[in-house]
Amino acid sequence: MNAITRMDIAVGLSGISKSFGSLTVLDDVTLTVAEGSFTSLLGPSGCGKTTLLNIIGGLDRPTAGEIRFGSDPIYSDRQGINVPTERRNIGYVFQSYALWPHMTVLQNVGYALKIRRAPAAERQQRSREMLEKLELGALADRYPFQLSGGQQQRVAIARSLVYRPRLLLLDEPLSNLDAQLRERARAWLRSVHDSFGLTTILVTHDQSEALSMSDQVVLLSRGSVEQVGTAAEVYERPRTAHVAEFVGGAN
Ligand code: ADP
Repeated sequence: MNAITRMDIAVGLSGISKSFGSLTVLDDVTLTVAEGSFTSLLGPSGCGKTTLLNIIGGLDRPTAGEIRFGSDPIYSDRQGINVPTERRNIGYVFQSYALWPHMTVLQNVGYALKIRRAPAAERQQRSREMLEKLELGALADRYPFQLSGGQQQRVAIARSLVYRPRLLLLDEPLSNLDAQLRERARAWLRSVHDSFGLTTILVTHDQSEALSMSDQVVLLSRGSVEQVGTAAEVYERPRTAHVAEFVGGAN
């Protein structure tokens, strides 16, 4: 029974704090993310969302606290554990998409497998399959400059999923798209999450994005968790005036 209960938690954060010099950016963040869930880290600019995502992904190191993925300890300052980012098996998509400009779409996706030392034939096959699954097969031989913003975003997602990560981390992946595209991209992203059975953590400052896409919304304010709940809970029963004001801006 215990083993099953533990497996239900994809990510467990306990007492995560982070300071840059005298600036405390995260203060004792404790949080769980359920396996297969879509969780948003929501809050105004500068509240610590990206820092928290980077700490989960191993791009940044907390000043204190513990992280586990399922039952695996990933980071513990007390026990001296710090699994490096490349062994955390995470898909990462940033606002900028960061596609290689000199590589085709197929090569961009395949590169994620190349750095994981997959043989050439397997890389080719898995990359093509991933592009087909995401209905991007027709773009395989194009270069990033020949793609729209929405297409680049989808290719960045394909590249981050091709090596079957245990966790998908998204840092404002929709904020470069215009309003109309963004609406469609939300639905698309959520459908990818569902069909691949992913666990996804999204950083966003956009209330309506978080509310429309997520199973769980985590409201951050000045480095602390102010409220955790379903979209309906934070919208209908905000715990603080600040949450009410921030979430109330969504429509
Ligand atoms: P958000 O993603 O919510 O906009 P961030 O996590 O990017 O917030 O930043 C939170 C705070 O931490 C900001 O005040 C930012 O200036 C500060 N910060 C982030 N990274 C660094 C760094 N490497 N050095 C110093 N301060 C940083």
